[in-house]
Amino acid sequence: MTIERFAPSPTGLLHLGHAYSALLAWDASGRFLLRIEDIDRPRCKPEFEQAIYDDLAWLGLSWPTPVMRQSDRQPAYNAALKKLINLDLCYPCNCTRKDITQAMSAPQEDVTYGPDGPIYPGTCQGRSMDEHTETDAIRLNMRKAIAEISRTLIYDEIGGKTPETIQISPEKLLSKVGDIVLARKDIGTSYHLSVVVDDADQGITHVTRGRDLISATPVHRLLQELLGLPTPIYRHHRLIRDENGKRLAKRYDAMAIRKYRDNGASPQDIREMVGL
Ligand code: GLU
Repeated sequence: MTIERFAPSPTGLLHLGHAYSALLAWDASGRFLLRIEDIDRPRCKPEFEQAIYDDLAWLGLSWPTPVMRQSDRQPAYNAALKKLINLDLCYPCNCTRKDITQAMSAPQEDVTYGPDGPIYPGTCQGRSMDEHTETDAIRLNMRKAIAEISRTLIYDEIGGKTPETIQISPEKLLSKVGDIVLARKDIGTSYHLSVVVDDADQGITHVTRGRDLISATPVHRLLQELLGLPTPIYRHHRLIRDENGKRLAKRYDAMAIRKYRDNGASPQDIREMVGL
């Protein structure tokens, strides 16, 4: 059975881009799950979580309850992190954003961007997990990680006209992803670690999400490999843009589903607006 999920963060109102992701997943699913991605506590609000439930139900979607909420899942993330630490793939890092930018702006450095911003220059790489304190984030040592898998990663992508198998080379992980943060010091986990652990625990077979997350997929494939977790089939859909061609972001309420509802649109109108 195809098990899909929609995994919004309650940091704003859902907009047309979310409606597109959720409806695509819903239409393709045998079983549809909702997951609330609320690890970033200060940015999440209960009223946005309630609005997610209301707007999705209004669109005609339903899901089993209680829903998985990432804020309840820290023990599962700790266990995964511990596994990676025991494999000797992690190190503590207390660099601030400013430290990183300064290290990157040294004249000999070319700035390359990965899924989380500039590729980390490796300043703290020599530190050991024995020195870890609560002022440290925990990073993955990518060079050690790729030695652990020592082969090309693949995943299947549905999209465009034909499904394809995507290959991720160790060189690409090193140069285009780098030493990503696995656990932020403030929240004890990260988007990447949480998503991979949750998709596996929920038995997700197909992940449908926007192309803005495509650069995160190699990270997710790598973590699945290191943690011995199954790999879903991915589909990264086109982004819904506003009339000026700008990608929608949640902080712009302009295209909020709520606004169209209030103005009398029907769920079918929303489907048509996103091209379904
Ligand atoms: N929580 C993420 C977001 O709201 C989506 C996570 C995912 O689909 O992997 O953008």
